[in-house]
Amino acid sequence: MKRHNFNSGPSILPDEVLRRASEAVIDFNGLGLSILEIGHRTPWFTEVIEEGRSLVKELMGLDDTYSVLFLQGGATTQFMQVPLNLLPVGGHAAYIKNGIWGSKAIKEASVFGQADVIGDTSDRNHSYIQKTFSVPDGSSYLHYTSNNTVEGTQWHTLPEAGQTPLIADMSSDIFSRPVAFDKHALIYAGAQKNAGAAGTTIVAIKKDMLGKTGRNISPILDYEGHIKAESMLNTPPVFAVYVSMLTMRWIKEQGGLAEMEKRAKQRADLFYSALDNLEVFTPIVDKQDRSLMNATFTTSNKDLEAPFLELCKENAMVGVKGHRSVGGLRVSMYNAMPLSSVQALVDLMEKFNQANK
Ligand SMILES: *Cc1c(COP(=O)(O)O)cnc(C)c1O
Repeated sequence: MKRHNFNSGPSILPDEVLRRASEAVIDFNGLGLSILEIGHRTPWFTEVIEEGRSLVKELMGLDDTYSVLFLQGGATTQFMQVPLNLLPVGGHAAYIKNGIWGSKAIKEASVFGQADVIGDTSDRNHSYIQKTFSVPDGSSYLHYTSNNTVEGTQWHTLPEAGQTPLIADMSSDIFSRPVAFDKHALIYAGAQKNAGAAGTTIVAIKKDMLGKTGRNISPILDYEGHIKAESMLNTPPVFAVYVSMLTMRWIKEQGGLAEMEKRAKQRADLFYSALDNLEVFTPIVDKQDRSLMNATFTTSNKDLEAPFLELCKENAMVGVKGHRSVGGLRVSMYNAMPLSSVQALVDLMEKFNQANK
C-alpha cells in the first residue's frame, strides 16, 4: 500500500529518485560497490558532488560569483554559521521574525553581535507576512525565512532590502518556484523538505561576502575553508548528497522551477479552495500570504480534530497533524506530491464536512 505523504520533513520524494537511490545502495552505477562503500575523494563521488553543485547553480541561475556547498548540521547550524561568517565584530544585522525558524536564527545571531528584529509577526501567531519595515543603516545583511514551514506562510515577493545583502532560509520552498536567487547574498536550505534526504544542507554564497568579520572562525565552520576544500573539509554526507543530486536532476527533467511552480499552484488551488468552502475547516493564514508548500488549518470545532485525523489514518494519509508548537492541522505539498494525493485528501475533507456540518 502506498500512503499519501503529507509529511513536513523529511518528506515525500519522487519515486524515480527513490528507485535510483535504492539501486545505488546495492550497486552504484554498475561498479560492484554500494554508494555507501566508496571513498568521497574518488572520481565516482567527486562527479556526483560536482553535478550537484552545477545543478544548484543551473536551477537557481547563479553565476561563478557564487559558491555552492553541501554542509552538515541542518539549516539549524546555518542559523549560527551565517552570523559567525558574515556578522562583523561590533556589527549589526537585520532579522525578520516571521515564525519559529526565524526566531531561532535570531537567537543564534545574538551570540555574535546585534540582531535587529525589524519585523515581528508574533502578535498574530505568525499567521501573516509583514512586508513593510525599515532596514537600519549599516546592517551587514537582512535575514528572512522564505517559507514558514510550521506556520504556513510564504513570501510571494522578495523583501525590500535596498542595498543591504539579502539572506534567505529557503529550507521548505527551495526549488519550488523561480525566484530572483541572484538578488541574494546567501541562500541555505536543509535538503530534507524539497531537495533530497536529511543529512545535507545546500548553501549558495556570493563569494565577495566573505572574510570581513574580523573574528577568528573555527576552521570547520569557515565558509571560505569549505569553498577551498570543495565541501570536503571533512567526509561529506555521501549518500545525502547523492539523493539531493538525483532530486535536482529530476526537477530539471520535469521542466525545472517553472514547472514545479505550476504544479505547486495546482495543488494549492485545489486544497485551499476546498478549505475555503467547507464549513467544518478553518484556514489560519491570511489569504495573500498562504504558503504553496505547507497549509495550516483547524477544525471549526476542536472536538472534530481527533476524528478527522483518525479518518486520515484509515485512508492511508500521513503527516496531517500540525507542528507540536502550534497544534491544529497542517498538510505539506512539496514538489514530489502528485495532484491525485491532494484530490484524495480533498475528497475525504468533503465527506467529513458532509457528515459533521
Ligand atoms: C525544517 C526547517 C529548519 C530546520 O532544519 P534542520 O535541518 O532540522 O536544522 C529551518 N528552517 C526552516 C524554514 C525549516 O523548514
